[in-house]
Amino acid sequence: MTLAQLLVVQAHDSAIDRLRHQRTTLPEFQALTDCDEERTHLETQRAEVDERRHVLAREQKRHEDEVAIIVDRRDKENERLYSGAITAHKDLQAIQAELTVLAERQEGIEDQVLELMESIEPVDAELADFDAKLADVADRKAKVEQSLADSQAAIDAEIETETAARAEAISSVDDALVTEYERCRADLGGVGIARLNHKTCEGCHLQLAAVDYDRVRKETVNVVVHCPECERILVRD
Ligand SMILES: [Zn+2]
Repeated sequence: MTLAQLLVVQAHDSAIDRLRHQRTTLPEFQALTDCDEERTHLETQRAEVDERRHVLAREQKRHEDEVAIIVDRRDKENERLYSGAITAHKDLQAIQAELTVLAERQEGIEDQVLELMESIEPVDAELADFDAKLADVADRKAKVEQSLADSQAAIDAEIETETAARAEAISSVDDALVTEYERCRADLGGVGIARLNHKTCEGCHLQLAAVDYDRVRKETVNVVVHCPECERILVRD
């Protein structure tokens, strides 16, 4: 009886539909989205901290450049002081006074450099903390990706089994009936054929009106009848 055989095909088709749906709605997809959102959030926060560090580092560099200029000036003044070219006591004193001022200024700026270095330290710690969190997210994401691949492979194996069983089941069904079944299935949400259980269509779960039921009962077994409510092919007992 090919109609009953078509019910078996329908069972495999429904199983395949369910598996395909399951494949696209695996919890791993949401977990991956969560990982990506977490990473983006962390990266945004890290970028803000990194910008703060750049500002401090630029300030440090500016001070260090100032120190380099002062060191250079001090070298030149020392050179002049000990060159022997300047002999006037007053001029030598002026150079020494200048050297003292330069040394004090250098010390002041170097103190600022130290303060900046100290203020950069906790910022670096913050950045390291973000890097550790980002590495953790990447690690978790890799695990979820592996889990997703495993789940999909398992579902693919099931789909393969169902597909082979469907091919086996459909091979003995008339081509014209298969075409009609496929059309109904496409139009009716994946279910093209249903059993008529007493007076109830198992496709739409509605009870046939007495007049419809009588008509269906009177048709010969070879005639394909459809549910008057949902249009599905009915399999009579
Ligand atoms: Zn129906």
